[in-house]
Amino acid sequence: MSESGKPKIEIKLDELREEKLSNAKRPVGALEGAAHPGVVPIYVDSGVIESTWQHVRTNPYTEIGGVLIGKCADDGGPFTHIFDSLEARHTTTTVGSLTFTHETWADISDRMSCLPQDAKIAGWYHSHPGHGIFMSSRDVFIHNNFFRTNWQCALVLDPIKNEEGLFQIVDNQVVRSGFWRAGGRSSAHRTNSTPSIVVDVSLEQDPLVEAGEHFNEALDHVNDAIDKLGEYAKEKAVHFRSPLGRHLDKRA
Ligand SMILES: [Zn+2]
Repeated sequence: MSESGKPKIEIKLDELREEKLSNAKRPVGALEGAAHPGVVPIYVDSGVIESTWQHVRTNPYTEIGGVLIGKCADDGGPFTHIFDSLEARHTTTTVGSLTFTHETWADISDRMSCLPQDAKIAGWYHSHPGHGIFMSSRDVFIHNNFFRTNWQCALVLDPIKNEEGLFQIVDNQVVRSGFWRAGGRSSAHRTNSTPSIVVDVSLEQDPLVEAGEHFNEALDHVNDAIDKLGEYAKEKAVHFRSPLGRHLDKRA
C-alpha cells in the first residue's frame, strides 16, 4: 500500500464496536465547555479532576502525568465514566516532554490489577507547565498509540496558567471537547496521593524562566520532528498495537 500526502499514523477505531458495552446509567454531571460534535460523552468525577490537579502541582516545572481509569458503558448511546486516576511513575522527561517508559506501563498494569474488574484505562493526563492547553505532535503520537479508541481521552493541565482541557478522537482527528464534571467522589485508591504543595514562585514574572520555557518549546519541536521520523519509519515496518490495551481487553 502506498502512502499519500504527509506522514500520518494510522488509527483504527474498531475496539468500541467489537466490544459489547454493558448498560449503565450516565452519571449526573455538569457540562464544562462545549462538547465537540460526534464525541463519546466523557463524565469525569470531580474527585479525579482534583487529584490530577494535585499531582501536576507537585512539580509545576516539569511535564508529569498519569492515566485516567474508567469504563465505557451504554445508556442510549456510549459514554465514558472516569472514576479514578493513577500517577505515572518511572516516566522520563526529555526537554520538558513526558514519556511513558516500559517500566511506567508495567507499573500501571500492576496497580490496575488491584482495581475493579471493569476498570480500564480511559485515557491519560499530563501537565503543560506554562505552555497552555493543546496537544503537541508528541502528545498526539502518544494518544494515537496508547489511547486511540474514541471513548478514551487526554486531559491537559497547565499548573502555571491554571487552565485545563480535554481532547478526544473524532473521525481519526484529535479534537478538544467539553466534558461533564460528575459529582462522584474518588475511590479509596487515592488516599495515599500526595498533598498539594503551595508554590510561591511566580514563574510568569521571571523573564529568564520564560526565555527558558521558549527555548525548551523550540527544542521540543526539533525533538518531536526527529522522534516522528524515527517512529514513522518503525510504524511502517510494524503495525503497532498497545500490549497493555490487549491484555486488559482479554481480562475484562
Ligand atoms: Zn503535552
